[in-house]
Amino acid sequence: MAKIGLVAHDDKKDELCVWAARHKRKLSEHQLWGTGTTGSRIIEATGLPVGLLKSGPLGGDQQLGAMIAEGRLDVLIFFIDPLSAQPHDVDVKALTRLATLYDVMCANNEATANAVLAYL
Ligand code: PGA
Repeated sequence: MAKIGLVAHDDKKDELCVWAARHKRKLSEHQLWGTGTTGSRIIEATGLPVGLLKSGPLGGDQQLGAMIAEGRLDVLIFFIDPLSAQPHDVDVKALTRLATLYDVMCANNEATANAVLAYL
């Protein structure tokens, strides 16, 4: 069982919810964590249990980063919006940096998320 973090920027939340619903059975085998809004949306879309952290811009991204630094997250599914500026861009960079540093599997788009889930 992997510990999976789920995050999506606002314009990518629908895409992540559709993806999670499509992969509900496989995701149900793992422990899920999400930033506040993303996690709530995934619970609504799938009924799966998701541990809710703070909203991303309010510290949720940093909470996921802390989980990575402490070895408590195996996979990060983080659908980034490449077309919009994010007010918490420094947190986004910090999270992707820690995922890279700690060699955590990190999917920033659907194709990679599919590949990661197939691997688990
Ligand atoms: P949210 O945070 O799920 O609370 O919207 C995501 C983000 O980091 O933008």
